[in-house]
Amino acid sequence: MERKVRVRFAPSPTGPLHIGGVRTALYNYLFARQHGGTMILRIEDTDQGRFVPGAEEYIIDSLTWLGINFDEGVHVGGPFGPYRQSDRKPLYRQYADQLINDGWAYYAFDTPESLEEIRKVYEADKKAFQYDCNTRGSLRNSLTLAAEEVQKLINEGNPYVIRFKMPDNEEIVVNDHIRGRVVVHSNLLDDKVLFKSDGMPTYHLANIVDDHLMEISHVIRGEEWLPSAPLHVMLYKAFGWEATMPEFAHLPLLLKPDGNGKLSKRDGDRLGFPVFPTQWQDPKTGEISSGYRESGYFPEAVINILAFLGWNPGTTQEMFTMEELIQAFSIERISKSGAKFDLEKAKWFNQQYLRQHSGLDLAKAFMPYLTEKGIEISEDKLAIICDLVKERAHFIKDIQSQTHFFFEAPIQYDEQVIKKRWKEDTAKHLDAISAILNTVEPFETTLAHDKVIAYIQENGLNMGQIMNCLRLVIVGAGIGPDLFTIITLIGKEEAVKRIKKGISEIKI
Ligand code: GLU
Repeated sequence: MERKVRVRFAPSPTGPLHIGGVRTALYNYLFARQHGGTMILRIEDTDQGRFVPGAEEYIIDSLTWLGINFDEGVHVGGPFGPYRQSDRKPLYRQYADQLINDGWAYYAFDTPESLEEIRKVYEADKKAFQYDCNTRGSLRNSLTLAAEEVQKLINEGNPYVIRFKMPDNEEIVVNDHIRGRVVVHSNLLDDKVLFKSDGMPTYHLANIVDDHLMEISHVIRGEEWLPSAPLHVMLYKAFGWEATMPEFAHLPLLLKPDGNGKLSKRDGDRLGFPVFPTQWQDPKTGEISSGYRESGYFPEAVINILAFLGWNPGTTQEMFTMEELIQAFSIERISKSGAKFDLEKAKWFNQQYLRQHSGLDLAKAFMPYLTEKGIEISEDKLAIICDLVKERAHFIKDIQSQTHFFFEAPIQYDEQVIKKRWKEDTAKHLDAISAILNTVEPFETTLAHDKVIAYIQENGLNMGQIMNCLRLVIVGAGIGPDLFTIITLIGKEEAVKRIKKGISEIKI
């Protein structure tokens, strides 16, 4: 029988969500939606020392912004709750006890100090210490101490942890949808702590118990968890849950743009692009890390960027809506090798999405930039301006540099254009053109254009030269959107004023 798809995104609230984490959430989401399955948000907060206030809210807010929605989870509830591990605390102990009773786990009373001492002795010998099948026999645990002694230590309230007893001489096989068949020899693995002295389970125990109880069918997560997968497979075996063990898919790492190493939290602002979906302020230091949202990326663009970091459709299509991704996505097309972040490509995607927006949409988004500068303009007029320049912008904020001449006369004039185009008689002809523009009624684009062109032709002037100089006095540069559209948008009076100002300021 085909298994019902239930996947989970299981972040730890230890800070803002890195875009690698967002990609994990996205791939889980696409997989769930494609199979008509269930998408679950589980918060893994068993490591209370690393808990960061606000991180859970941040995760929910940024995924909501991106359109990654959940069917069950900490914020929406569901039949398999609670979905926050700290709220599930009472249920984990019985599973640790089950493993002890079945001989798969044991109590360990070694203090952190005594383990540190042993570690140092090993280090002095240039060896690495690990609590495993070779060392557990000489340490303070329920395998080496008499049963009464163990009971006494527990009754007296001595701190202890519960460790997994990794069996020796076993080949552990992890069948991974991306990595293939991964085989690890159990003698290399240590006896991981499953239950801590503070009464909390560790990640490993809570993760397996929850995946089992929540009936997770597929575990899709970052490659950094691959080394834990053999232990997880053994835990399923130890619990007798092998038949319903989820299938695994470990996603390739996200690499720095030069391919040298993993994209870290610190890279973003250092290399000039965000590594977080939305802006994050560290609650302790107040330090701000930039986010895609605040940097002007459209959520659709971020989704498209992340979809392609590790996956490709096998066709030349690059632009994908969420719906199209749901159709096209497949785990088989996820690459094994790390995916390099490419800033230029990211900007390109944003530009494509910006172009898809109407002038009015862009006007609404851009208006606050103008209001802040004290510039007043109607939304309709701004919509025309935005339509005119949107081909040249990657971000909404770029519209500012593309449109400043609509709101203010040039302060400087491009020297190159002056050198190349401004002649002895240019001022005289521009003056004549300003007089012509003054007579254009109604003051609209085609009429203004035709009258000016007629003047240039009647006087046998060089079209390119005069038009370039006219543009220079109106916008300050030799390039830009259609000149007569600009002239009519700024209005007759302003156009004439700018021509006069240019004539008096430009000297050769
Ligand atoms: N809590 C783990 C994390 O922060 C989850 C790993 C997993 O998906 O198993 O990434």
